Order: sequence, then C-alpha cells, then structure tokens
Amino acid sequence: MAAPGASNPYGWIAQSLKTLHRANWYRQVQAIDGQGGPKISIDGQPYLNFASNDYLGLAGDPRLIAAATAAISRYGTGSTGSRLLSGHRPIHRQLEQAIAQLKGTDDAVVFSSGYLANLGTLAALVDHRDLIVADRYNHSSLQMGARLSGAVLAVYDHNNLEQLRQNLTNLRHQYRRCVIVTDSVFSMDGDLCLLPEILTIADRWNAMIMVDEAHGTGVLGDTGGGAVELLGCRHHPMVQVGTFSKALGSLGGYVTGSAELIDFLRNRAATWIYTTGLSPAAAAAAKAAIAILTQEPKRLTQLAANANYLRQRLDTLPNINRLPSESPIVCIQVKDAATVLSLGQHLKHQGIFAAAVRPPTVPTSRLRMTVMATHTEGDIDRLVEGMWSFWAEKSGKEH
Ligand SMILES: *Cc1c(COP(=O)(O)O)cnc(C)c1O
Repeated sequence: MAAPGASNPYGWIAQSLKTLHRANWYRQVQAIDGQGGPKISIDGQPYLNFASNDYLGLAGDPRLIAAATAAISRYGTGSTGSRLLSGHRPIHRQLEQAIAQLKGTDDAVVFSSGYLANLGTLAALVDHRDLIVADRYNHSSLQMGARLSGAVLAVYDHNNLEQLRQNLTNLRHQYRRCVIVTDSVFSMDGDLCLLPEILTIADRWNAMIMVDEAHGTGVLGDTGGGAVELLGCRHHPMVQVGTFSKALGSLGGYVTGSAELIDFLRNRAATWIYTTGLSPAAAAAAKAAIAILTQEPKRLTQLAANANYLRQRLDTLPNINRLPSESPIVCIQVKDAATVLSLGQHLKHQGIFAAAVRPPTVPTSRLRMTVMATHTEGDIDRLVEGMWSFWAEKSGKEH
C-alpha cells in the first residue's frame, strides 16, 4: 500500500484524459459568434450551421429579444430565489399557462432546464419500491433521473416493444409503481418512439408514461404540440417533459400533465423546489416563442419540408448509410470515430458545420445534421455536395 502523500490523488485525471485522446473521444468547445441561425461565424470564418437545435430559427428573433429585454427591465436579471420563496414572478405562471395550452393539458410547471425537469420528475414519481422501464437510447437526463430515483431500472433495446413487454411480464408484479420512460424524438438518431403502442402496453400493465418531447415540441404536430400531437395521443394521461431551449429558442424545462401531477411536482420535485427560478428574460423569450409558433404555422411546414429535402438528397448518394429519421435530426452512420472526425473536418474546410458524434455519446459514430426552418434548399445542397466530395476524395486516394 502506498504511504499517505506518496502519490498524487489527482493523478488519475491526466491518465483519464490520455485515454480519451487515444480513443478519439476527447471533446472541446468552440466559440460561435453572433446570434446563431443557419449562418454562423467561428474564429471569424463563416459557416453554414447544421448543428443547431434552434429548429424554427427563433433564438435570434427580434420579438424574442424584445420580450427578454422588456422582462429584464421590469423584473431584473435574476429571479432572486426559488419559486416557492421569493423567485416566482408573473411571467413564470404566464409561461406555464402558455405551454399547457400548446400541449392541451390541464397544467404545467416550468423548471430551470430540461435536464433538471427530468431529474426531478423521475425522482419524485418513483423510488426504490418502484420500476422504471426505459429505452436504451434515452437522453442522459432520463438515465441520470432513473439513477437518482433509486427505482429498479430495466432497459429495453431501442424501440424494441417485445423486450419492453418482456420486462413488464418478468418484473412488474414485484413493484409498487411503474413508469415507462422514452424520448419522443430520439435526440442522437432522429427517429420517433412507438407511442401509441407503448400507451396500450402501459395501460395493460398499470404503468405511467413519461415522454420527453425536447426535440418534438415546436417541431412536430399540426400546432407544434410535439410527437404526442403528431401521433394522436393527446387524450391519453401521461407525463410530458420538454425544454424551451430547442425549437422555442430560449432556456428552461417544463412538465405538462394533469393538475394533480403538476401540483404534486411543485411539492415533491427537489430540482424545482431547491433551485433558483428560471430567469425572467428566459421565461419571457419562451412565452414569445410559443406565441409566434401559434401565429406562424408556416415555420413548422417549412421545417418539415427542409428535413424531407435533406433526406431525399442524401438518399440519392451511393454508399451512404442514413439512419431512419422522422424529424429534423438526420444522421449518417460512419465506420469509426476517426472517420467521422475527418468527415467533420472536411465539411468545416468547406464552410459547413455539422456534429461528428462519437461514443460514449452514441453507440456508433455518426455525422448528425439538424435542419432549421430558415435554411434554404441551396444551403442543404451545399451540405450534401460537401459530404459527397469527402467520399469522392477518399475513394480517389484509395485507388
Ligand atoms: C436537450 C435535451 C434535454 C435537456 O434539455 P435542456 O433544457 O437543454 O437541459 C432533455 N432531453 C432531451 C431528449 C434533450 O434532447
């Protein structure tokens, strides 16, 4: 055994970093200047942006900026306390009513982020006496929420309903409550969960459903209500969570559902009770975004048309393995981490910014592209041509 003080107790951190570098898993930030949108600037260079969650192009919209600025003038920059003490402002309640209306639910509660909404909601709904059955590809916040809750976690392979049923058959009777947890739009793949089927299974097994609409809200459904709306499931009781940080161009998370559910969370969700209320500026911007979504439904149809166009263009290229997608998230699978990094670099040289996503974020390396309502067909053509030239150059070198 090493004598106390003989070794550096932090030495393992440098070792871990080395391992990350060796596996091509190391990641770092890059600063994007300006307001986001389809055209961005990094280190003074212009890029077409296919890595944004700002699906409707609202994050830089003058009306959101005006709403945030007005809220700051009226309420100040910080909400100065937790919601149950001094941090609750009228703008929070207005936002809760607006998102509940968009979702067609009784009520809603606004958290400081989607990540916190997921942690706090799962930990409030279930504990060690209970069972969580979850899709393998669920977002990190749902996986961490499951751990935090202390409930027994059974994971089924992505969208594998047979395994979902099998888990319930084997385990459901041993536990008090049960919740089936799934992303509605899978964030790293872009496909949808099989919600109508999952609802039927949940009913059969007396299980709750928690569905994460982070990439569905403001993206899918006739009014932007999300995958729940698109798939015709709005009438069914469930726990819907999501974020204002993606299509709605702001920041903050929410849970919508029955009045009892929301009332219960206000009393039991630790990540809501013991954190400072969402800033007035973020709340006001999110509320303005919901109003624009309702007034300008053309943004939704344009977003869907752009996603379709990208998928169609990619499918004309030979030897491209496009993953199934029913959303503005479109991925092509790439052999390994090194290849996807060089593809990302190649695109960057062409002035195109798209995410090279690698393990451990996802099981297999991929280029992940997101389209926005504000992209033009010409922008998408440039992306596809940039990608095509990567493989053309590669096969040229190999021959
Ligand atoms: C982004 C995301 C979250 C977290 O939302 P934030 O508001 O950014 O914390 C949760 N779930 C999914 C599926 C997401 O994509």
